[in-house]
Amino acid sequence: MSTIPEIQQIESRIETLGSLMRSEVLDYSQDGDLKLPIYKLSFGTTAPDAPVLGIVGGVHGLERIGAQVTVALLNSFSELARWDRQMQRTLQDVRVFFIPTVNPIGILRKTRSNPRGIDLMRNAPVDADKPARWLGGHRYSPKLPWYRGKENEPMEVESQAMIRGVQQEIAESSLAITLDCHSGFGLQDRLWFPYAKTQKPFPELGLMHSFKSLLDQTYPHHFYRVEPQAGTYTTHGDLWDYLYLQHEGLKRGKQYLPLCLEMGSWMWVKKHPSQLFRADGAFNPLIGHRHQRTLRRHNTLLELMIRAIANPHAWAALSQEQVQQHESQAQELWYGQI
Ligand SMILES: [Zn+2]
Repeated sequence: MSTIPEIQQIESRIETLGSLMRSEVLDYSQDGDLKLPIYKLSFGTTAPDAPVLGIVGGVHGLERIGAQVTVALLNSFSELARWDRQMQRTLQDVRVFFIPTVNPIGILRKTRSNPRGIDLMRNAPVDADKPARWLGGHRYSPKLPWYRGKENEPMEVESQAMIRGVQQEIAESSLAITLDCHSGFGLQDRLWFPYAKTQKPFPELGLMHSFKSLLDQTYPHHFYRVEPQAGTYTTHGDLWDYLYLQHEGLKRGKQYLPLCLEMGSWMWVKKHPSQLFRADGAFNPLIGHRHQRTLRRHNTLLELMIRAIANPHAWAALSQEQVQQHESQAQELWYGQI
């Protein structure tokens, strides 16, 4: 049967970890006889209101490095969950989950879209106010990139599986962060926060700025550029905009930051321009040592995020005054307003 190495690695993790975690097939991505599972693996407490961290990858199949980084983080994390008593104690209070291959057939076939030609990251029923032309999403044809699907049709199986998997984990969580791993834009690794649909600030701007301050203070030499996604381009149908809007966290006194890691793939192309002659060359580090380096590059971020959700007092339990301070700093930094 056809499969992909990322799914084989997940399945061997499931076998070796046993009761250390919970695994679930959220759904199957199918095309004719081909059928590949979309897995979710969860560690830690099942208390619905516990703080949660989720790592997601493989939404865009062509950006395979996103799925590979997610599996690499899963592998390191599950080792810690196996032998590190401190991590085991942390997991009594928090939950960490992974959905590494949202679009497994896209990964197998090196396509951005799912097998029906739909760009999952344009597929949610969310309309942008001023979408970027073409790449902001369109409804013309699945033969063109950035196709959203037909209006009023249900979301694709893969989109629904991801959304359901994330909602199961974060719906009642007091403090949740998710990180969706992509590649393909710019020279630098970026951490994007909502919205994708509009350049207007999203409601949890103060919390977002507080998270950035925690990252800056803890790792002053980190290499991430933290910014709103819509500062680069505005798109229809972003799955995280949809999840954020559905969550309605603030109304219910719950905090949620959906982040996207956009790995700067132009660095890999700049160092090795002939990569561009391969379909996947513009989106992935193809040279061995660069690939290895990319797989271990985000371990520190994972560690920071775990510690952040386990220690809300350090950055998320903010007084009204602190929220206002962070909001005004954020307005100045990201939106050029004071
Ligand atoms: Zn992507």
